[in-house]
Amino acid sequence: MRFHILTLFPEMVMNGLLTSITGRAVKQNKIAIEATNIRDYTLDKHAKVDDYPYGGGAGMLMQAQPVYDAYQSVADRIPEDAKKRVVYVTPQGTPFTQQMAQDFAACDDLILLCGHYEGIDERVLEEVVTDYVSIGDYVLTGGELASMVIVDAVARLVPDVLNNDQSAETESFHGNLLEYPQYSRPEVWHDKKVPQVLLSGNQKKINEWRLEQSVIRTQERRPDLYAKYEELQDSVNKGIGFSGFTDPFRIQVVGTFVDPFGIQNHIDHLAYGHGKKPGDSDMMQQDSMEPMHGIRQGKEDFPGTHHDAHELIVGNKDKSTE
Ligand code: SAM
Repeated sequence: MRFHILTLFPEMVMNGLLTSITGRAVKQNKIAIEATNIRDYTLDKHAKVDDYPYGGGAGMLMQAQPVYDAYQSVADRIPEDAKKRVVYVTPQGTPFTQQMAQDFAACDDLILLCGHYEGIDERVLEEVVTDYVSIGDYVLTGGELASMVIVDAVARLVPDVLNNDQSAETESFHGNLLEYPQYSRPEVWHDKKVPQVLLSGNQKKINEWRLEQSVIRTQERRPDLYAKYEELQDSVNKGIGFSGFTDPFRIQVVGTFVDPFGIQNHIDHLAYGHGKKPGDSDMMQQDSMEPMHGIRQGKEDFPGTHHDAHELIVGNKDKSTE
């Protein structure tokens, strides 16, 4: 994935982003980051890039011409068939979220436009921008820090940028939950003990505890997010039913479920069985056994698993008839 930042302060963004994990990813060619200096494209003989806003008012505005030409210099180098988005970072944009980071991570090229002064002439924004994104309800002096935030959050979702794929998946915001509390050595610090369950070696119990903590934490710290989590659970509970059973049976589940780690998984699984009633795990022939087991038996039988399966098909074909 390639990030292109249009800015008046290229050294500011490059110094920040070529450090630590994003810097290592660039060195290893997992991602590419470049900053283009908008001032290099001005046609003004004094290298000016700003002027007074029509209609008066405080401050200066970045002019359309240098911004447009800087943008074109980047766009001209992006292949026609590349998936591209052009983001103007602005306090007037849609608040940046993990979901947005995931969407942007699916791009080949992400162009980030940083404003300064009072912002940028509206006409060039209308011509080039696909997304208006804010990093929060406050006003910064320029778009550089906002662009760095976005590049950082998106880059870490690019495959292989993090050493361990898991670590991006078990974090806050997956499945509308915040991450559970974590502990490292020593077992006792300032008289505070690591919760016993984490030392138990019982992974099922650990997963259940973590999910419970995630739920409590989200409820306490982010009631807005918790409301979304609850909404999802409600739709799940309403949306799933198991009607009838034939022997042999074929069952298909399409949808998403949040596993005990709070990870949202997409599922489209088929399973087949013979003999006993569905839900008896010993007859499952697919690796999808746990989610399907949970869906068919409900939360009490598979605690800590929540589902959003929007389609449940039960039929009477077994594997041999597929
Ligand atoms: N006059 C503008 C307004 O009221 O919307 C604010 C301009 S701000 C001083 C200068 C630049 O900083 C903006 O053009 C934008 O690129 C960036 N910026 C400021 N706050 C931001 C935020 N919360 N999120 C993203 N970018 C921001």
